[in-house]
Amino acid sequence: MKNMLDQKILDSEACIPVPFLDLKSPHIDLKPQLQQAFDRVLNSGWYILGNEVKQFESEFAEYCEAEHCVGVGNGLEALQLILRAYGIGDGDEVIVPSNTYIATWLAASFAGATAVPVEPIEVTYNIDPSRIEAAITPRTKAIIAVHLYGQPADMDAVNAIAKKQGIKVIEDAAQAHGARYKGRRVGSLGDAAGFSFYPGKNLGALGDGGAVVTSDAELAERIRVLRNYGSQMKYHNEIKGFNSRLDELQAALLRVKLKHLDEWNDRRRIVAGHYNESLSEAGLKLPYVPEWADPVWHLFVVRTPQREVLQQKLSAAGIGTMIHYPIPPHLQPAYAELGFAVGAFPLAEAMHREVLSLPMGPHLEPWGVNRVVGALNDAA
Ligand SMILES: *Cc1c(COP(=O)(O)O)cnc(C)c1O
Repeated sequence: MKNMLDQKILDSEACIPVPFLDLKSPHIDLKPQLQQAFDRVLNSGWYILGNEVKQFESEFAEYCEAEHCVGVGNGLEALQLILRAYGIGDGDEVIVPSNTYIATWLAASFAGATAVPVEPIEVTYNIDPSRIEAAITPRTKAIIAVHLYGQPADMDAVNAIAKKQGIKVIEDAAQAHGARYKGRRVGSLGDAAGFSFYPGKNLGALGDGGAVVTSDAELAERIRVLRNYGSQMKYHNEIKGFNSRLDELQAALLRVKLKHLDEWNDRRRIVAGHYNESLSEAGLKLPYVPEWADPVWHLFVVRTPQREVLQQKLSAAGIGTMIHYPIPPHLQPAYAELGFAVGAFPLAEAMHREVLSLPMGPHLEPWGVNRVVGALNDAA
């Protein structure tokens, strides 16, 4: 009897779709704690820049092994405010990876600077330090290194170049909460880091949110002023600032979720380990992890020239996948002004043609991973 029942469960699981991302389960698991946090904010009568934001900032700075955290509206504004706080803007150049989410480039643009792309290392997808110096001009003021897909960039190499040139290093850590580079947490590896708490990130709010993390006390103070209308004292405006504040409610919810981040990242590592062990015969390029990197697997990205066919086969089997990203920033209409043609950044372009992100997340169960592995091996 028991065997028949097990078989039935197996048969039914074989048909259950595997979504690309399960955003709901972590919140259902934590519903009582999240509800409590909501009630705390509701009953406080204080909804902007209160105790929850203050507490979250201190907890997240500690988590990142950095001195300061300033909660802001989202990840894009975190990066933009860092540039502005360093006085980087009109006429300046900011080095960015050629393969990243467009937000990295937009941060430079909105600060008034020009994004100068540098190609990645083929196997890590992260900025190639050996190509940075050729892109530096007298106008270069900063390098934004992205820890793409949750894997840290080679920060010692990036920092060495920046130090020699006297320019700033900014981490775009929007995909890498909790990742380590040579034992150190991302967010503590450059002059300042921008984080996003967009719901789908490893640490996500129930809406938009972001943070600047830094051990530069002066920078942290300037960001605090910039995020709040340029004022330190209410109705006293030292500079023309922004309205870019992390909501009190989102901070309270993030405090609940931060306590589970390490456990969730560990579960992502288990899923990634399973994929890596089981897909060696599937004819795909699997992620490469340098020995100094401890990634947090925001995404598990494979590469194949047959991406479109593979994605269709998986979709027919009920398995959700995504492409991060289909078009590189330099070929987006939004950046037509820079005049880059197809072929300008061939490494990034090839990646964008071939990458496919498999289902990934802390709530992806072993049966789901097995279904994805089975479907990929069938397709090989
Ligand atoms: C998500 C993301 C951002 C932007 O974060 P938002 O909170 O959506 O503004 C920036 N850079 C990278 C690499 C991202 O993945």
